[in-house]
Amino acid sequence: MSHYKFYEQVNKNFDKAARYTKFDKGLLNQIKVCNTVYHVTFPIRRDNGDIEVIEGWRVEHSHHKTPTKGGIRYSHKVDEDETMALAALMTYKCAIVDVPFGGAKGGVKISTRDYSVSELERITRRYTYELIKKGFIGAGVDVPAPDYGTGAREMGWILDTYRQMNEDLNAEGCVTGKPIQQGGIRGRTEATGRGVFFGIREACNVKKDMDKLGLSVGVDGKTFVVQGLGNVGYHASLYMTQAGAKLVGVAEMEGAIYDPNGLDLEKLVEFRKETGSIIGFGNSKELSTNKDALELECDIMIPAALESQITGDNAMKVKAKIIAEAANGPTTADAHEMLKERGALILPDAYLNAGGVVVSYFEWLKNIQHVRYGRMNKRFDEESLTRIVREIEKISGKKFSENEMENLAHGASEYDLVDSGLEETMITAYHQLSEIREEHNLTDLRTASFINAINKIGIMYEQMGIFP
Ligand code: NAD
Repeated sequence: MSHYKFYEQVNKNFDKAARYTKFDKGLLNQIKVCNTVYHVTFPIRRDNGDIEVIEGWRVEHSHHKTPTKGGIRYSHKVDEDETMALAALMTYKCAIVDVPFGGAKGGVKISTRDYSVSELERITRRYTYELIKKGFIGAGVDVPAPDYGTGAREMGWILDTYRQMNEDLNAEGCVTGKPIQQGGIRGRTEATGRGVFFGIREACNVKKDMDKLGLSVGVDGKTFVVQGLGNVGYHASLYMTQAGAKLVGVAEMEGAIYDPNGLDLEKLVEFRKETGSIIGFGNSKELSTNKDALELECDIMIPAALESQITGDNAMKVKAKIIAEAANGPTTADAHEMLKERGALILPDAYLNAGGVVVSYFEWLKNIQHVRYGRMNKRFDEESLTRIVREIEKISGKKFSENEMENLAHGASEYDLVDSGLEETMITAYHQLSEIREEHNLTDLRTASFINAINKIGIMYEQMGIFP
């Protein structure tokens, strides 16, 4: 296990990249530090009548742009260091994919399995109340989202609590990742996993990089292993398998399984729902521990659970040629160096899992505009396209079937627009990172991603001239 704490790991990566930028030490420090750290304790009543003290944090890493943005994590491992590290990663992530927010992160130190739904609701509402009281939430201030251990349900409770206490026209924009009925956006739930897929696909389409790894171009036919079959891991696997990749290994809390002939994702999820475990699925072989999955033979490894999974201790045993960091901080700084040495391609977290914040940005825009995407133009576009297709029919003498007509004259729905915006963002950002890697003669994309973020934020600070 690496002896560096998570925030220090992030800062080591920052320092490495900062050497390639033109900013002086003071400005670099201003970019690096966490602007505000809020630590709170509050009581809740358990279902059995007991009172329990809960600990939580909200960290706003950078106010160079507002609102700040970042998920809320529920895990018994949450602490101040982790929340600061994740908030910093959010700042760099937003800069990399050109989302105009500063970075933030929240955390509550609980294991969700130890609480009933009504207890989780009381914890979430009370935590939100503490954020409101200290001015740590609002559409123009700080906007949370889901992360490990939280989802649309919790975001709905946060909005409801906020709304009860604020006469705010833009209340819906105080949190993203909400249920659709409460101002959420179609495509947000799967956004991070979908973005992970777009990023991997883009990387696999670069022939020069695939040649170096001895792999063919494209996702089709590649084997992959996923650690963590939660929101991000499941959706990334879904789109990977739809594109023709083969899922050969899965690790979850209860253990890990391997089947070189491929695992059927949907059937596996169904099996886990029924039995409570992935162990014993189909013809799969059970591994000794869930960490062993990281050492499986495959082309692509997708860590999608938590940080510090690939460390100095196991990095040399990781066989995958591509490490696709769906989780935040899955590879420690020393492990990164070891993987790089042996020529692996690491798709860094701050880029690869940015799909969630990209679509959260779209959701926030929808909320402050108070109109659903596609509402104004879908029908108009459909009618214009239908007229064009009818003209083509007249000129060509060909008659399109109803199905063909629907395909050709289809107006974009909210989901179509969100998906297309996400795809465009992930592709553009990947090529920015590739170019920076070339320009500085680097061998890794993580340093390139930090250079990209530091440059964008640094230039903003210089232009603002905020230093008296
Ligand atoms: P989640 O709670 O939906 O899923 C995480 C899964 O990992 C769970 O099924 C859990 O049982 C499993 N897991 C935990 N420890 C494990 C271990 N040691 N081995 C194998 N499996 C393990 O969380 P999520 O939202 O999918 O987040 C996963 C990661 O992705 C986190 O690092 C998070 O910060 C990051 N991320 C999430 C989002 C998002 O939109 N949800 C966005 C960006 C980054």
